[in-house]
Amino acid sequence: MTTQPCSSFFKPSAFLLYVLCCALFMFSSSTFAAVSIKDVRIWTAPDHTRLVFDLSGSVLYDIFRLHQPERIVIDIKKSKMNAKVSELKIPDAVLLSLRHGKQKGGTTRLVLDVRDGVSPRSFLLKKSNNKPNRLVVDLIPKQEQATVLKQPQAKNNQSDIIIAVDAGHGGEDPGAIGRNKLQEKKVTLGIAIELAKLIDAQPGMKAVLVRNGDYFVKLANRVKKVRDSGADMMISIHADAVTTRSVKGASVYTLSESGATPDRVAAALAAKENASDLIGGAMVEQEVSNPLVRNILGDMAKRDGLDSSEMFANLVLNKLKASFPIKYEKPKHARFAVLTALEIPSVLVEVDYISNPKRESLLNTKAHQEKLAQAMFQASHDFFTRMGLLEKLDPLIHTVNPGESLWSIAKQYGVSVTSILELNRLKQNALSVGQRLRMPQS
Ligand SMILES: [Zn+2]
Repeated sequence: MTTQPCSSFFKPSAFLLYVLCCALFMFSSSTFAAVSIKDVRIWTAPDHTRLVFDLSGSVLYDIFRLHQPERIVIDIKKSKMNAKVSELKIPDAVLLSLRHGKQKGGTTRLVLDVRDGVSPRSFLLKKSNNKPNRLVVDLIPKQEQATVLKQPQAKNNQSDIIIAVDAGHGGEDPGAIGRNKLQEKKVTLGIAIELAKLIDAQPGMKAVLVRNGDYFVKLANRVKKVRDSGADMMISIHADAVTTRSVKGASVYTLSESGATPDRVAAALAAKENASDLIGGAMVEQEVSNPLVRNILGDMAKRDGLDSSEMFANLVLNKLKASFPIKYEKPKHARFAVLTALEIPSVLVEVDYISNPKRESLLNTKAHQEKLAQAMFQASHDFFTRMGLLEKLDPLIHTVNPGESLWSIAKQYGVSVTSILELNRLKQNALSVGQRLRMPQS
């Protein structure tokens, strides 16, 4: 039997004691350190109102309803309120007021006064893509809960061609941000609204806006809305950003077929666009890493969709080329989750680079947004004309905008001034703003 010398017995024990103290200190500080509720935002969508709380770390929380009056209570454990709740724009359609207070044990209690029948849906988002940990609370009004159970509306009027216009990003997800802080979501919505106006002004065509305000719609729901609307075509609008500020120009994308040669640039862009759910806040995060494109390729109807998407993408590029710089001369392909309604021609248009300050200031003007919308509208009109679906309808109509001349309109459509004059029985210089002109087919 060997005996340990005293010195070698005490040294490890002193060390152990030190480790134990450190561990205790760390345990106690992590146990009692409150998570800061750093910021809060509100987004009002047509079917729900979303509250997003930025947190300095992960939290435990409880959420429950109280009646008479209707309230939703959120208890965020071990947290402290540092957000400016009073600056929220309330009341909105479902949320009447919001107040908060401190409970025992360091719990922050939020009380939301809501309209009758509003029910909550909530989830936590982990820190990712420069976004902090977040708590998302959706307030869903009564009528929306009922409509969720209804079957999608069948296409009721077969005579109208329906075009789904998808403004990229929205709400929590700003998309790319320019040097002067212009957000992609604002540009895409501006263009989408203009495009929808042009479509609706054309007899025989009807637009469906996937979102018509500043709120987030997850990618799967975008595709669902397109399908449920019975759309014949889908145009998703974006504006990209890169680190090199001089880069500019539009590019057009379609979904890649499985087995197609991978395009690394397009794949990187698709990964960026597909991350929208992660940033905007979708409840099931796995959907992002497992885009919807699995197991759906190969079907014949869907292959038709791919071919017509390619044809439409070329038309969009050609129309854009007449008035704008182009980044890639040919359509590119990648696995964009938003383009999976493959039974109809679906394209994603990156209208320009918001990271280029000159292009950014142009993208911020209504005139430029209208011009971009005009190019996409003409492409869709050409597409359906080529398909023989617009034969019985009126020819392409152009509404004169401020600052336009016959020459600029003719250039935009790739036709001659004389042909416009003849078709409309006009004398030169006789244009007025808002005048509707029949346009010859290019
Ligand atoms: Zn985008």
